[in-house]
Amino acid sequence: MPTPLKRSFDYLLPLDITDLAINDLKPGLRVLAPFGHRQLTGILLEVKNSSDVPAAKLKPAIQILDSDPVFSPQMLELCRWAANYYQHALGDVLSNAIPALLRKGHELIDQKETRWRLSTEGKGLPEGALKRAAKQAQLLTLLQQRTSINTTDLSTSGVSRTILNALIKKDLVEKFASEAAAPTSPNNESDGTEEPLVLNEEQRIALNSVNIQKRYQCYLLDGVTGSGKTEVYLQLIAKCLEKDRQTLVLIPEIGLTPQTVSRFRRRFNCHIALLHSGLTDRERLLSWQSAKSGQAKIIIGTRSAVFTQMGNIGLIIIDEEHDSSFKQQDGFRYSARDIAIKRAHQLRCPIILGSATPSLETLHNAQQSRYQHLHLTQRAANAKPPLYELLDIRNAPMDEGFSSALLAAIKKEITAGNQVLVFINRRGFSPMLMCHDCGYVAQCHHCDARMTVHFQQGMLRCHHCEGQEKLLGFCPDCNSRQLDFRGSGTERSEQALNRLFPNTQVIRIDRDTTSRKLAMQELLENVHEGTPCILVGTQMLAKGHHFPDVTLVAVIDADGGLFSTDFRGPEKMGQLLIQVAGRAGRASKPGKVMIQTHHPEHPLINSLVNNHYHSYANQLLEERKVSGLPPFGHLALIRAESSNPQQPEEFLRALRSGIETNGQTVDSGSRLFGPLPAPMARRAGFFRAQLLLQADRRKNLHQCLKALCNIGEQHTLANKIRWSVDVDPIDMH
Ligand code: ADP
Ligand code: ZN
Ligand code: ZN
Repeated sequence: MPTPLKRSFDYLLPLDITDLAINDLKPGLRVLAPFGHRQLTGILLEVKNSSDVPAAKLKPAIQILDSDPVFSPQMLELCRWAANYYQHALGDVLSNAIPALLRKGHELIDQKETRWRLSTEGKGLPEGALKRAAKQAQLLTLLQQRTSINTTDLSTSGVSRTILNALIKKDLVEKFASEAAAPTSPNNESDGTEEPLVLNEEQRIALNSVNIQKRYQCYLLDGVTGSGKTEVYLQLIAKCLEKDRQTLVLIPEIGLTPQTVSRFRRRFNCHIALLHSGLTDRERLLSWQSAKSGQAKIIIGTRSAVFTQMGNIGLIIIDEEHDSSFKQQDGFRYSARDIAIKRAHQLRCPIILGSATPSLETLHNAQQSRYQHLHLTQRAANAKPPLYELLDIRNAPMDEGFSSALLAAIKKEITAGNQVLVFINRRGFSPMLMCHDCGYVAQCHHCDARMTVHFQQGMLRCHHCEGQEKLLGFCPDCNSRQLDFRGSGTERSEQALNRLFPNTQVIRIDRDTTSRKLAMQELLENVHEGTPCILVGTQMLAKGHHFPDVTLVAVIDADGGLFSTDFRGPEKMGQLLIQVAGRAGRASKPGKVMIQTHHPEHPLINSLVNNHYHSYANQLLEERKVSGLPPFGHLALIRAESSNPQQPEEFLRALRSGIETNGQTVDSGSRLFGPLPAPMARRAGFFRAQLLLQADRRKNLHQCLKALCNIGEQHTLANKIRWSVDVDPIDMH
């Protein structure tokens, strides 16, 4: 049952079940059953002839919801493994692994859908007809380009239903019911027409090294940004398609999907199913069904797509494997990358992890020959690697975060007709509001955090909870109007750039400017036209995009990551910098990366810009080895939070002493640290504490963790506070 309880529940058969149906009961079927005062959708795990629960207490299930199991035996096994590995309730793991509609007890969707196409008369219209009705003309063009469209196509093109009806009324368009229309069945004439590129030597070696056989092998495709990793993926998928096997492609973020998907579409004329949070529940279920039935040959999705069942899987690809979005950060805290590797192992298929900046874990595994290491060291298509330059800003006069050297460089590029990308990893106007007269600092009332000023919205917002309040023009403590905005975010940089470059378009990309659906695409259209402009944005800009006309990447502040309290801080900062830098000069124009820092002599930052990612990563690996941190040791974090300030620590202390009286930590070679207040000790009104478990061997970690969880589950506070287990945490906050 989908509950946080780590156990299964026994039910009697539904009262109205027939003998025939009893014979068809298989693990993996969904079952509707009473649970407390509710009815929940559970998953049948096993059919038994007896129960430990007294017969009088057993309740009958209400209904068997499926005739075919929604979970294959392999997927059930994988979920059991994951529940055990992440110390999470199996019921919740299972419910995470299926689309929301199935979780809610919805039945499978009959895969017929309504589509529209041009009528004979409509087909007779010349290109550019209906000029006087712009929207009608737009729809006509769309229908001329594609053989048919569905409601999703209609809404993404921004044409309303009224316009469609107008064309139907004119007999130019007709409705029809289409069979088996997966959300992205091929429907564009250019689909599948693009020829594969001629690979360079390194790409060819990489391609030929991967064995598309029914055998497990993990490969690390370690290729600098723009080296043509995607081309290698595409040609591997082609090999897989030849054998009529499916490929699962996991990508980090939805923002990347349009670009990635159109690239796949141009190459392959087959069903491609998408699975990401931007879809409606119905679309997700359709994608899921088309993957399971084998109709979709390529499945592209974000994190949770790792649980997509596929009839005939032949290959798994994880693009940007280092990306932290592959780890779920709440509830069932799994790593989609690690589960994918387990899955490839279980299903005996090759798996490719691709990145320009592999995570230290993956790099270590490759160095230990657990993964086969494939290298792409050169940029494809003759693009040159970017040149790095550190700008020492100690004592330099600054204008809203920009040194004069940086401003001069930006000016030079714009004058030459190029584009510039300014990277500042903080949104909003300013991260701190202070009163110059009394020293008041605007704090969130619910968190140990400062409010961020969002000037355009006239708001103070907390970036850690939903907290927000109006931005007043005076200090709430002393009424002074001498307010001081300390530090810059994207909004302030945008404003400054508009002032400094009044004749140049400044385009801001962050969560605030792209929250509307399609906003990102619209903003980036401007950039892709190639006119000189300045892009200013957060890490959203670092991921996957391709800006051929950007010749300068400016990093406003590189120092944050160097002095992070999180041991992964430097790793994340290095990856981010290399990824942002990789946006520059990807086509014919060479790129330059200028990094402002107060620590130009810092060995890490020097290693990064002079020797690039690998020597930087190896340096970090050395440090991790000395301190027994991942990948040399293993971690699990137990977090507890409550509105009561004492209870989280009290609970975690009980866990620690419970296990220490057993002598278990010493025996198993694991160590406990804490309980300590979390780095942000109060968030959204909750007091937070954590207990860290460290062990040199994974087996020991899990043994000890299991014992800790057992103690936790029996503790009187277990149901009064919120607590969770994070195995292999990537964020220690
Ligand atoms: P990555 O995924 O490693 O960032 P891409 O696959 O996006 O790199 O390739 C970067 C650019 O180089 C793309 O424009 C792509 O079309 C081009 N490219 C890739 N491989 C080749 C090749 N063998 N010959 C010519 N151009 C290539
Ligand atoms: Zn004041
Ligand atoms: Zn807050």
